[in-house]
Amino acid sequence: MSEKLWRKNLINIEPYVAGEQPKNDKIIKLNANENPYPPSSKVKAILEGKTIAELRKYPSADASVLRAALAERVGLKSENVFCGNGSDDVLATAFRAFFNSDKPILYPDITYSFYPVWCELLKIPYKTKSVDDDFVINIEDFKEPNGGVVIPNPNAPTSLGVGEKFIRELLENNQDSIVIIDEAYVDFGRYSCVELVKEYDNLVVTQTFSKSRSLAGMRVGMAFASAELISYMQAVKDSYNSYPLDQIAIETAVASLSDEDYFKATVEKVKATRDRTAEKMREMGFNVLDSETNFLFAQHEKLSAKEIFTYLRENGIFVRYFNKPRIDNFLRITIGTDEEMELMLEKLSEICK
Ligand code: PMP
Repeated sequence: MSEKLWRKNLINIEPYVAGEQPKNDKIIKLNANENPYPPSSKVKAILEGKTIAELRKYPSADASVLRAALAERVGLKSENVFCGNGSDDVLATAFRAFFNSDKPILYPDITYSFYPVWCELLKIPYKTKSVDDDFVINIEDFKEPNGGVVIPNPNAPTSLGVGEKFIRELLENNQDSIVIIDEAYVDFGRYSCVELVKEYDNLVVTQTFSKSRSLAGMRVGMAFASAELISYMQAVKDSYNSYPLDQIAIETAVASLSDEDYFKATVEKVKATRDRTAEKMREMGFNVLDSETNFLFAQHEKLSAKEIFTYLRENGIFVRYFNKPRIDNFLRITIGTDEEMELMLEKLSEICK
């Protein structure tokens, strides 16, 4: 390949893939942290009530109905909410808006593989802070001067969360830069810092409808922050050729928010299945981290992750294997239905015998 200057910055970027999407629907898909249950029936009602003529119109330019519904749910105002096409889009907008200093941004290593991709693309300097041997994030690592901080809480793929004390200490020590807390999995965890948006005007909290609300295919994500930060995100989004969200995404997201009982019941079901599965895996010789998410991060005492991954795959069960230093002996297993997890456990017990 010839030395084209425009290519230099792109050639080393590995595109982020959430997980293979097999065509065969017999495959048990535990590789992309999707929710095994369908979205609320209120979402179905919206889709069924649509007429093709409605597609003629442009969507709401500011997703105001959705922003108002989201704001109300967490006790903030619409001006504190930004919406985008999944939290990846929201994170990308925040990176573009806020990470523009010469100082490196800080984020943990191990973490969500999307962050380095955006840093490389946007030429944002960054410094990673190694998690400890138990995958715990050390607060002391995030007290040096920086151009911004990103912490996923709970973290992925480790599944571990931090509590309010950690987040407050982080914010107290980073008052001059923007702190992004990526709460993609927070509904399965113990602590959301969204309330702290009222106290800290440098805090951006991102969340998603992809996991706890079973709407990954609809692409809806949001950020909560001070009105000033939200106005900057509005300014840098792709406002000249796209609206924040398509109309069907806006309406189905609002419908999902209106069915809190279903949301809570689904989350509780996933958590119960998660904890049961973790226990059974521990009995088979796995070290399973204490998950605060809808997936398990686990390593077997004797068998390699690659071996287990391959065996499960041969048996029609897809989980996530990372060919990366430090985590190449771990598997990330999304929580499916009870039935799916029973089948997975059955296959694990065969290979662990
Ligand atoms: N943050 C983390 C930590 C994630 O694992 C994911 C899912 N891959 C996302 C954000 C983005 O999810 P979505 O774009 O579907 O909202």
